[in-house]
Amino acid sequence: MKNVFLVFMLLILTSSCSSEDNEDSNTSNNNPTIYRIPVVVHVIHFGEAIGEGANISLEQIESQIEVLNEDFRRKSNTNGYNNNTNGADTEIEFYLAEYAPDGTLLTEPGVDRVNGGRSEWPKGNILNPIDTYIKPSTIWNPESYFNIWTVNFGGFSGRNLLGYAQFPSQSGLAGLYEDEGSAETDGIVIGYKYFGSSEKGNFPSLIPPYDLGRTTTHEVGHWLGLRHIWGDGNCLYDDFCLDTPNASGPNYDCESIKISCEEPEMPQNYMDYTNDNCMNIFTNNQKERMITVLKNSPRRKELVQ
Ligand SMILES: [Zn+2]
Repeated sequence: MKNVFLVFMLLILTSSCSSEDNEDSNTSNNNPTIYRIPVVVHVIHFGEAIGEGANISLEQIESQIEVLNEDFRRKSNTNGYNNNTNGADTEIEFYLAEYAPDGTLLTEPGVDRVNGGRSEWPKGNILNPIDTYIKPSTIWNPESYFNIWTVNFGGFSGRNLLGYAQFPSQSGLAGLYEDEGSAETDGIVIGYKYFGSSEKGNFPSLIPPYDLGRTTTHEVGHWLGLRHIWGDGNCLYDDFCLDTPNASGPNYDCESIKISCEEPEMPQNYMDYTNDNCMNIFTNNQKERMITVLKNSPRRKELVQ
């Protein structure tokens, strides 16, 4: 099915401050500063064997980390490459953590398997056992690990959800609150049917057109301070990046070049709602926002020190 209404869960923000673009390190491409972020993936299952259903395999997890690095580094000869003049190599990378919080070597790097005791996980305003129960009871120190949870979304309030993220606090960036949430829920949550890439292995639970790992790229963008490219409103709403076009709303495919707000849209941007095979751009201003977050925000800056 195309054009399913996607509910990428996001905080509804009403701030309309002017754009603020902090200087980043201005490193040359010959000598880039690479920000490397350690990841733990909490695989929330219901007793399935490893590799079955929500208990996804290490290989599927590794395929997702590969996609993140292709996309954030704009790697040549991958789906993450683009030749857009505003396209950026963000110089941000991700790797599966080698050690558990108690210092023991992990047999599966960056993987924490947890039987969550239920088959489906709703995410609503009233009922959200992911945020109230599973995250606080499983999170690893968010000053040492970027926490990702994979779950089987379900129930009325979760049936169309692909993933959601917690924004960074204290970034100083326009469009974000000073306090975007507590330490015990920090991270991103992705439906296991959208985590990983079907181009990198045989992962039958992945569901096209969301089977190339871009749900996670999008949610990591939020976790690093990016807003949706259309600003979550009409032409009057901004994403606080000067090099992304204003748009009147989200796109769901790349089939046509759409003009709204008097300029061509950028449906290839990871912060749009387009299908996975369409996306391949973070812009330079988006990179600047993410680097600002990595330098200023709690539970971000500690990860790259
Ligand atoms: Zn989103």
